[in-house]
Amino acid sequence: MTTPNMHYADLKDSYLFFHIAQKTKAFLETHPGAHLYRMGIGDVSLPLCDAVIKALHKAVDDQAAKETFHGYVSELGLLELRMAIAEHYRNRGLDLSDDEVFVSSGASDELGDILDLFDRSSSALVIEPAYPAYVDANVIAGREIIHLASGRDNGFLPSPDSSAKADIIYICSPNNPTGAVFSRKQLKEWVDFANANSSVILFDAAYEAFIEDDDLPRSIFEIEGAKTCAIEICSLSKTAGFTGTRLGYTVIPKDLVRKGLCFNEMWIRNRTTKTNGVSYIIQKGGTAVFTEEGQRQIRENIGFYKENARILTGALDKLGIWYCGGKNAPYIWLRCPDGMGSWEFFDYLLNEIQVVGTPGEGFGACGEGYFRFSTFGSREDTVEAAKRLVNLLGGS
Ligand code: PLP
Repeated sequence: MTTPNMHYADLKDSYLFFHIAQKTKAFLETHPGAHLYRMGIGDVSLPLCDAVIKALHKAVDDQAAKETFHGYVSELGLLELRMAIAEHYRNRGLDLSDDEVFVSSGASDELGDILDLFDRSSSALVIEPAYPAYVDANVIAGREIIHLASGRDNGFLPSPDSSAKADIIYICSPNNPTGAVFSRKQLKEWVDFANANSSVILFDAAYEAFIEDDDLPRSIFEIEGAKTCAIEICSLSKTAGFTGTRLGYTVIPKDLVRKGLCFNEMWIRNRTTKTNGVSYIIQKGGTAVFTEEGQRQIRENIGFYKENARILTGALDKLGIWYCGGKNAPYIWLRCPDGMGSWEFFDYLLNEIQVVGTPGEGFGACGEGYFRFSTFGSREDTVEAAKRLVNLLGGS
């Protein structure tokens, strides 16, 4: 009899978003016609920018004529796009070569696929609260997972210590869900720790474009020593509204070598075996993101979400509620008021003011008592949600 991967049985129900959907559905059934102010969503609400749309249209037309038609493109990504991304890094003073950049169909796909580079006996460190996919992908592979809890005492940005020793170290900065961003000094501690222990850091930079403080690192490769211990996984989802269009990129330095094997070369072997690459059309659209016009336009969209963040954090400031994030990240992570638990606060906001957020407990046990707001919603809903929060909690 076929033995399936029995580790699937070890997965905990991904009950967070399922449970939220159930609760909101039940509310709408008993309150027909009610409007919900969805401050929990991790999806963007603005359309793709004009430069990208034009490039996508043009690429569709390319496929219509024999002279411009493209069949298979490189599994590693269109050279034009890889060069544009490497140039984007170089413009920020980082020295990367085009062949250290790989195009992907998004960070989620890549975060799962990249684990092919590691032995199944490797252990994985997950700093919690965390994006749930890190844990689940490693449970599926049967890896040992080391959970490192973080909290308000360290601003949700823990330093490494002997309990954090692992082969694979996940770092997400700016963080989902906490919105906290590691400083250069803090990241340097992790880079030194990884090099000292021969670990590899999987640096999830899905939200790097939201960093506005110049002294905060947008890439782990801004840190000396990172090229020998880190892989950076990036996404155009939140940077440029590609959540439904799907495109990302990954940087694997050639200097990243363990036990005589070069991760960059291994990834070339992996990609040329397991994929035929990302759609030509989508990659042409993605290339437009890295033009001057594209960069200006995506900045405008990011600015829109940042204004949403200011509206929500303004309400929390008024209420004296502790939070982090929101400035260099699209997420705001707040302490539930009056000692409420995460789900208790969820129910309270849903029932009293129809505001829907995400309970912190869903991102790991140390998230209990915290709550996440996203800033990707519409302006009208964000303004109204902020007003309702102040009215509800202002008197308590
Ligand atoms: N990494 C983090 C931290 C995320 O929050 C998300 C999406 O919400 C992803 C990766 C996935 O991004 P993508 O849409 O590129 O798959």
